[in-house]
Amino acid sequence: MMQLKVWGGAGEHGRSCYMLQSGETRVLLDCGVKRTGSGEYPLLDPAEIPHIDAVFLSHAHEDHSIALPLLYKLGYRGKVWTTRITAELLPAYYATWGHYVEQQDARLPYDETDIRSIAYAYLDEAAPALGWIELGPELRVCWGRSGHMLGSVWFLLELSGRRFFYSGDYTEESLLLRTDALQRLPGGPGELTGAVIDAAYGLDAEPQSAKLERIYAAADGVLTAGGHLLLPVPHSGRGQELLLLLQRQFPGVPLRVEEELLHGLEQLLRQPGWLKPGAEARIAAALGGLEVVRDAEQRTRFLQPGAQPGIVLTGDGMMQSPKAQWYYRQLRRNHLNGIILTGHAYKHTLADRLLRMAPPDRGCRVERIVYKIHQGLPDVRRMLQAVPCPVAILAHAPEADTEALLRQLKAEGHRGLLSLRPGDAATLA
Ligand SMILES: [Zn+2]
Ligand SMILES: [Zn+2]
Repeated sequence: MMQLKVWGGAGEHGRSCYMLQSGETRVLLDCGVKRTGSGEYPLLDPAEIPHIDAVFLSHAHEDHSIALPLLYKLGYRGKVWTTRITAELLPAYYATWGHYVEQQDARLPYDETDIRSIAYAYLDEAAPALGWIELGPELRVCWGRSGHMLGSVWFLLELSGRRFFYSGDYTEESLLLRTDALQRLPGGPGELTGAVIDAAYGLDAEPQSAKLERIYAAADGVLTAGGHLLLPVPHSGRGQELLLLLQRQFPGVPLRVEEELLHGLEQLLRQPGWLKPGAEARIAAALGGLEVVRDAEQRTRFLQPGAQPGIVLTGDGMMQSPKAQWYYRQLRRNHLNGIILTGHAYKHTLADRLLRMAPPDRGCRVERIVYKIHQGLPDVRRMLQAVPCPVAILAHAPEADTEALLRQLKAEGHRGLLSLRPGDAATLA
C-alpha cells in the first residue's frame, strides 16, 4: 500500500509539500511556503519527520523550498536531493524570504543554523536526466528537466517496488529551457501507482503563443501612445524569456533591463545543459542590444520628461521590493504609462493591490496577462494521456479552480482524479 499525505500545495497556490509512504519507506516531496501574512508553512508532522528517508526538492521557488530549514529544525537529519544549480540559487531565495518576513514585522520560524544544516545531494551528479539513482534497497529515483525554471525537475520515484510521478512545476512551452518528457524514459515510466500533477492554471486552455500575442498587443498600446512600459518579473525565470521576445517584437524601442535580470541571462549561459538547442546563441545575440540599468541616477534619467519611452524590466513580479515600488510611483504620474503583470500575485502584494484597484485610481494602465510556466487544461490532459495512472492528484491551484478542472476532465472520461486539500491523505493501491 502506498499513501500520500498533503502537507501543503493542493487546493491552494503555495507551500507545496507531500509525504509519500510505501511500506517502511517515507519520502518528502518539496517543502515550501505560502506568501500570506508572515507566511503559511506546510503542516509538518513532528512525529513523522525523524522517519523520513529522503527529501526531494523540485526547484528553488519559495513555494517549494522555503520551509526546508524548518524541517531540519524539527528533527530531519537526512539529505535533500536536488540539482546543483537549484542549491546554488537557494541562498538568494532564503535571503529574499527573510527580508519579506522582516517587512511584515514578523519572525522566521527557523534561523541561520537551520538553513546551514540543509544537507544537499545532487541528482545531476548522481545520474544524467532520465537516469535512475539507487538510494537504498527500497528506494530509487529518476529525474528529468521540467522546463519551469533553471534547475527545475520532475521525479519518478520507486518505493518498495511501487512507482509514483511528481511533476513538480512543469511546462513544455518555455522559450529557452529544455523539458524531458517522461514518456521518453528508456523502458518507459512503467506501471504507476499514483501522481501529483501541476495543474496551476486550472481550466485555462490558452497556449503560450496566444498569451504572447496579448502581451504584445498590450505593450504596443502603451508604446504607441508614447508611454513607458514596465514589466516586473522574478529575477530568474520568465523575465529572461520575455526580454528576448520583446526585443524581437519591438526592434528600435529602448529595452531597459535592471542588472539582476542581466545576471539571470548570464546565469543561463553558464548552464547550457538546461537550455533548448539554439537558446545559447539567442541569448548571446540579445546581450548587445540591452540598456542595463545599474543605479538610481540612470533610472531617473530615462524616466525624465522628454526622454524616449521604452520597455523596462525590473526584478520582483509581485512588486514588493522598494525598487519595483519606486517604478510604480514614477509611472503613475502619467496615465499613458503601463504595467504588465505576467505571473501569480499573492494577496496584499502591490501587484495584487493594483489589480484590485479601480482603473482610474491606478494612475497608469495595469494589466495582467500570464506568461505560462505551469500547466493548464490541454497540458494536464496531455500529461494524463502520456502517463496513465490509477490515481492523479491535481495540484497547485485554489480549490474552486481544481474542482472545475476535475469536472471537465471527468466529463472527458478521465478517471481516478483527486482534488485534495492540506491535511488530506490519499491511500493509493
Ligand atoms: Zn515554481
Ligand atoms: Zn510552485
